[in-house]
Amino acid sequence: MESNCVSDAVKDIWRSFVTLIYPRSCCGCYKVLVTGEEHLCGFCRKDMPRTDFYMYKENPLTQRFWGRVQVESGSALYHFQKGGRVQRVIHQFKYRGNLSLGVFLGRLLGLSLLQSEHYADVGMIIPVPLHPAKLRARGFNQSEVICRGVSEAMNVPCSAGLLVREKETATQTRKERFMRWENVSAGFKTPDPLAVTNKNILLVDDVVTTGATLEACAQTLLHIPGVRIWLATLAITE
Ligand SMILES: [Zn+2]
Repeated sequence: MESNCVSDAVKDIWRSFVTLIYPRSCCGCYKVLVTGEEHLCGFCRKDMPRTDFYMYKENPLTQRFWGRVQVESGSALYHFQKGGRVQRVIHQFKYRGNLSLGVFLGRLLGLSLLQSEHYADVGMIIPVPLHPAKLRARGFNQSEVICRGVSEAMNVPCSAGLLVREKETATQTRKERFMRWENVSAGFKTPDPLAVTNKNILLVDDVVTTGATLEACAQTLLHIPGVRIWLATLAITE
C-alpha cells in the first residue's frame, strides 16, 4: 500500500514535470520556449526551410505530378531534408504523438495557402486516409490532424471519411516508385460519391516523396463527376 502511494506520488511529480517542460520546449531544438512562442522557437521558425510554392500555380510539387494526374495546384510548407530540423519536428508530431504540434503546423500550412489566389476555390479538405490497422497502432491519422489546422486557418470544412483505404498496403518505404504506385493505386475508395460530386478538394498529407499515395487518392476522387483537386503537404523531399 505504502509503495503504491510512493509510486503514485512519483508519477504525479513526473507528470507535473512533463506538463511543465514538454509544451514549453522547442520541437526543433529542444530549447526552452519564451512567452509568445508556440511549439517552435523564433530561431527554428526562421531556420526551417519554407517553400514559396503557394505563390505559384505550377511549382516543384505540382511538377512531380505532371503526366500522372490532373491537379489544379499544390504546395508544401517546408523542404524536407534527411536529418534536418523539419524531419525532427514532423517526427515529434507523427511518432511521439504531439498532436497539438500537428494542428499548429497545419495552421501554418493553411495560412500560407490563404495568402494565395490559387487556393481561393477550395471548398473541401480531405486528409489522405490511414489504413485501419495503422490507425489502431498509431492511434491517430497524422494527415487528419494536419487537416484540422488547415481547416481552421482557411475556414474550409475538413471531411475525413469521404475517402477511405480499401485494402492493406504492404510497408511501402523500401519499394521502388513503380512498385509503390502499383501497390497503392487501387487502395482507395469513396463511400459517399454524392457528397464529393462537383467539389473542389484540397488533399492533405504529411510529406510528399514520390507522390504515389497522393496520386492514387487524386485518381480515385477524380472518377467522380465535377471533382477538382489541389494538394497540400507539410514537407516535400528533394
Ligand atoms: Zn528551436
